Amino acid sequence: MSKIAFIGLGNMGLPMAKNLVAAGHEVTGFDLSDGAKAGLQESGGKVADTIAAAVADAEIIVSMLPAGKHVTAVYTDSDGVIANAAAGALLIDSSTIDVDTARAVSAKAEAAGFAMVDAPVSGGVGGAAAGTLTFMVGGTDEAYQAAKPVLDIMGQNIFHAGGSGNGQVAKICNNMLLGISMIGTAEAFMLGEKLGLDAQTFFDISSTASGQCWSMTSYCPAPGPVPSSPANNDYQAGFTAAMMLKDLMLAQEASSSADASTPMGQRATELYTQMAEAGHDSLDFSGIMKMLKGEG
Ligand code: NAD
Repeated sequence: MSKIAFIGLGNMGLPMAKNLVAAGHEVTGFDLSDGAKAGLQESGGKVADTIAAAVADAEIIVSMLPAGKHVTAVYTDSDGVIANAAAGALLIDSSTIDVDTARAVSAKAEAAGFAMVDAPVSGGVGGAAAGTLTFMVGGTDEAYQAAKPVLDIMGQNIFHAGGSGNGQVAKICNNMLLGISMIGTAEAFMLGEKLGLDAQTFFDISSTASGQCWSMTSYCPAPGPVPSSPANNDYQAGFTAAMMLKDLMLAQEASSSADASTPMGQRATELYTQMAEAGHDSLDFSGIMKMLKGEG
């Protein structure tokens, strides 16, 4: 049993923290929201009034926060993690944030004597609750090995992506590809339908031909062929278009700081921005199909 502090008990963080409690760890949570803290308490966790109190005697500190600015504040402020954690604590940030911030915060942690990994996830709220998340981890071999037993409780597939920040790199490159492939899949189904090709017939052909991809076979944006996909439920999320846009924007930011050319990622960002500006960013990201069909 380890003493674990968990900071950020939102849609993802709370179920992840609950899984650590269920595995027998002593988990102390902190969030700005009292409701979020109450959720952990109801499941047998402890809560603290400040970050300093949450981390004071923790051996492992996990965070799951909205964006880079929150991670910077939570770790580097004078009342934050680095200034108040016990010597030897392992720091794990599972938020999806920009690569530069992940590397800068890790460097500050290391300068203060702490091992830190970035460990963003895919798998969504369902994966967080079921303990089946995929973790993409950036950090030293030693830090990865130390983090793995805790990540194994919350996830099913744990990958070491390389040094500090590489977890975030893997996450945004994967999600950039997902955004692009979803738009491509939706375009193909839309065009097929306009030309008189039934969605199921096209699915049967393309899912066994060279156009096949996850966006088609597991998450088809056209209603019908994949019963579990949000297309069959009025595009209720799922993974919202707002979250896809967040990840695409992180990818574009990283692309320009690396002086890379990612024109398809850029176009995907523009199209999801258009979807958000039309007021549909709380729909599932596969709802881009409706926009392409001119239905919203
Ligand atoms: P959320 O908004 O539900 O939860 C974030 C929590 O952080 C909130 O409870 C908020 O009160 C808390 N918080 C903010 N600032 C804080 C601070 N200074 N100190 C303490 N707590 C603070 O978000 P979420 O859906 O749980 O997502 C968390 C992260 O996981 C994001 O980076 C997101 O991109 C990523 N992610 C989310 C999903 C998903 O499906 N929701 C999937 C993969 C990755």
